[in-house]
Amino acid sequence: MIRIAVHGAAGRMGRRLMALIAQSDDLQLVGAVDRVEHLPSDEEAAALCIQAGVSTGQFQDTVPKQAEAAIDFSSVAGTRRVLEQCAADRIPLVIGTTGLNAQDHLAIDHAAESIPILQAPNMSLGINLMMILVGRAAQMLGDDYDTEILETHHRFKKDAPSGTALGLASAICKATGKDLANDVCYGQYGPDPGDAPRERGRIGMHAVRMGDVVGEHAVSFSALGERLEVKHIATDRDVFAHGALAAARWLVNQPPGRYGMEDVLGL
Ligand code: NAD
Repeated sequence: MIRIAVHGAAGRMGRRLMALIAQSDDLQLVGAVDRVEHLPSDEEAAALCIQAGVSTGQFQDTVPKQAEAAIDFSSVAGTRRVLEQCAADRIPLVIGTTGLNAQDHLAIDHAAESIPILQAPNMSLGINLMMILVGRAAQMLGDDYDTEILETHHRFKKDAPSGTALGLASAICKATGKDLANDVCYGQYGPDPGDAPRERGRIGMHAVRMGDVVGEHAVSFSALGERLEVKHIATDRDVFAHGALAAARWLVNQPPGRYGMEDVLGL
């Protein structure tokens, strides 16, 4: 059995991870870590925490040292904290949290010198394949085709655009020699005529927040006379949770280093 700790255990992803670990044959939950004090009122999640040894009626404050891997779906502040702890305690870490900045990525690179770390803004097979497809399409179609990325998520999501949308933009930039900082245009607003022309070669990025949408990403490449769209719709959070568990299983056998889902999925 592989001993897993979930960081952000009380959250939407954390609760699903704990439920899937409880159902698996090869994983054992040894830590349910969160900043909130008390177990969730939701009976299933509370029972899972207790099963994981959180018998005091409270989430744990730190990842137990006996964990063979930690999985983090929390917040940027949470990731910073768990990264430091896992590096100090030599615990392999899967990071699913999004909204990380350049400095966070440098800190991950640094920690990856001593532990294996897999960080991915999206853990689904479909999205990771989509990253490859849109890069290839952008490279083949060139700037005669306008590239627009549209992402939609539930009303509770805290960062925008989504880490996945940025990942898609990055994949396109990498394939075309563009630059994420200079070639992406966030939204389009220009109330006066002439204020908001579409610039050739720019990658448009749009975020929509509404209701309970789990996650939708579409990239379109449009010319005069045709449009190619690549679209991914996540209908269930479990697709991310299964990906994160596959990542943890894979990561426990790796040497220190920084990895992505493409390594796990063999893409
Ligand atoms: P959520 O708000 O439902 O849950 C986050 C949990 O983390 C909460 O219980 C919160 O109390 C806990 N937390 C926050 N800061 C903490 C800290 N400093 N220490 C300990 N615990 C802390 O959010 P969610 O929908 O579960 O998503 C969590 C993160 O995962 C977000 O960044 C989201 O964008 C990302 N996400 C990534 C993927 C992926 O495939 N990589 C998929 C879904 C969500």
